[in-house]
Amino acid sequence: MGQSTPESVAHPHFEWKHVDWVPFTAIAILHAACLLAPFFFTWGALAVGVTLWWLAGGIGICLCYHRLLTHRSFKTPKWFEYFLTAMGCLNLQGGPIKWVGTHRIHHKESDTDLDPHSPKHGFDWAHMLWCVINDPQGRNLRDYAPDLQRDPVMVWLDKYFWVPQVALGFALYAMGGWPWVIWGVAVRTVFTYHATWFVNSASHTWGYRNFDTRELSRNLWWVSVLAFGEGWHNNHHAYPRSAAHGLRRLEIDPTYMTIKLLSWVGLARDIHVPEEARKQARAA
Ligand SMILES: [Zn+2]
Ligand SMILES: [Zn+2]
Repeated sequence: MGQSTPESVAHPHFEWKHVDWVPFTAIAILHAACLLAPFFFTWGALAVGVTLWWLAGGIGICLCYHRLLTHRSFKTPKWFEYFLTAMGCLNLQGGPIKWVGTHRIHHKESDTDLDPHSPKHGFDWAHMLWCVINDPQGRNLRDYAPDLQRDPVMVWLDKYFWVPQVALGFALYAMGGWPWVIWGVAVRTVFTYHATWFVNSASHTWGYRNFDTRELSRNLWWVSVLAFGEGWHNNHHAYPRSAAHGLRRLEIDPTYMTIKLLSWVGLARDIHVPEEARKQARAA
């Protein structure tokens, strides 16, 4: 690869002059809007928020952005892949190409200075500061997802990733007024942010290891609860292409269960789960 600039060798860290103001402002406004949540609480609004946490976060991010688009751990019809990707866009975690590129670098450079989000550079950095900063190494993160760049639908979704969320906001307002918007967009999106970010921060800090991998990844049950099985992160680093992240009996993995469910109705096939992954995890 190309030579690093002197700055790129430095320890990645937060600096105001490197802030990317679009995500910074969006994330700040969404957090501020959560302060209004108690005043707009209704049971219906809570139900909308929880349902969307599962559909947009669980299926859009964990199942689609991560296990399908980044790691290709199973196959699905193209039209359904686009539909799932649009659900991933509902989390304002950036478009699919940037997200996938970032995550592939994380696997390639885990817990080195080139990792976009390692807790070695601070828990707060790994949790959320990294994503409001322009890449400290000056990389174009999309370069790491050339397969998606060749797909014009993915390119459109990557550019206009905020459109599904805005459309959802208007739809929720029409159906349930401000309580549905506050809980279905602000609270739900912020909750999903932190659930996703805990995979990067907490699951590289606390928990147990089934595999002696070269990075700091760990298996952490409460992150799996928040992120639909993504907390079995040491298993995932050991076998990145495995559609199943939970490999032992008590490592419950709702995202893998959903993939199995999709296969029963013909929407998922060629599900990749290496035989030796489960065997080795159980022997660990
Ligand atoms: Zn990781
Ligand atoms: Zn991964």
